Amino acid sequence: MMVINITTLKNKALELGCEVKENVSMKDYTTFKTGGNCKLLISPNSIGALGEIVKECNKSDTPYTVLGNGSNVLVSDDGLNGIVIYIAEGLSEIKLLNDTTIYCEAGVKLGTICNFALENSLSGLEFAFGIPGSVGGAVFMNAGAYGGEMKNIVTKVYHIDNNGNKGYFTDKQLGFDYRTSAYEKNGYIITGAEFSLEKGNHTEIKEKMTDLLGRRKDKQPLDYPSAGSTFKRPETGFAGAFIEQCGLKGKQIGGAMVSEKHAGFIINYNNATSSDILKLIDYVTETVKKEKGVTLTPEVRFLR
Ligand SMILES: Cc1cc2nc3c(=O)[nH]c(=O)nc-3n(C[C@H](O)[C@H](O)[C@H](O)COP(=O)(O)OP(=O)(O)OC[C@H]3O[C@@H](n4cnc5c(N)ncnc54)[C@H](O)[C@@H]3O)c2cc1C
Repeated sequence: MMVINITTLKNKALELGCEVKENVSMKDYTTFKTGGNCKLLISPNSIGALGEIVKECNKSDTPYTVLGNGSNVLVSDDGLNGIVIYIAEGLSEIKLLNDTTIYCEAGVKLGTICNFALENSLSGLEFAFGIPGSVGGAVFMNAGAYGGEMKNIVTKVYHIDNNGNKGYFTDKQLGFDYRTSAYEKNGYIITGAEFSLEKGNHTEIKEKMTDLLGRRKDKQPLDYPSAGSTFKRPETGFAGAFIEQCGLKGKQIGGAMVSEKHAGFIINYNNATSSDILKLIDYVTETVKKEKGVTLTPEVRFLR
């Protein structure tokens, strides 16, 4: 692991009014509740400050990892190389731009924007209710569920590029595809997005949100730490079904387990390390390949 000098960055972040934490356990910032420490975690309090932090990282050649709500990542037990730019706290503005368009900053939780849409009787975001991510993470991943996807409603995304400058993408530039976007390739930091929704009926929107949340509670192992579906959906079926057919429900390595409730979820069953989870991901991948001829690809993103 490279040695970084955090003092200048820390002072710069404090000068900009950002929140700063040192030697932070990533267990506290990921829904898997695993991972080593990061030396410095900065929560930018404004988009301008975020740009300045990126410029300062470039100047000092310090690598940075962007973290939203940590609900789709597995952080190495050895911790992270460089600093963490934590988006899910500071960038929290949300507003209506017109009758049917919501603008919100990247740190806003999906639950918050779903409720804001409901308050304004706007339909289109119901599918996202219950996904425990931030808007930035959801756009990055093109998060989706129950037939909906970010790409159907996100029309414009604002970012800070690799030089620390502001910009935005629309339409094809966004590069949305199944659980990916242009941001996976370019490394830019998403700062906000516009959501184009439709006028709907308050009661119907609420009923749909309640129904979908109920389905999650029925099917998903929400009482254990996880990162949701561990694998992407293969072309020929559902990852969970293939894993179950291989008899892997309940399979454990260390403290990691293939959920008994939903085989598509690997859970932190009993003080798992990220290494336990990674070994189980490899074991499941190899077994499903051998027995079903299907290649599983992780949806979870590995950070080191
Ligand atoms: C119980 C449970 C249920 C889930 N259900 C679903 C589901 O139904 N559908 C679904 O699609 N996902 C689901 N997920 C996975 C996860 O919630 C989504 O992928 C979510 O969108 C990730 O957002 P996040 O803010 O937590 O991102 P993080 O996990 O923090 O980050 C994910 C990736 O995005 C990058 N990133 C985050 N924020 C930014 C930003 N502002 N700019 C640039 N890059 C950024 C990170 O570097 C990382 O590579 C579930 C997870 C859990 C734990």
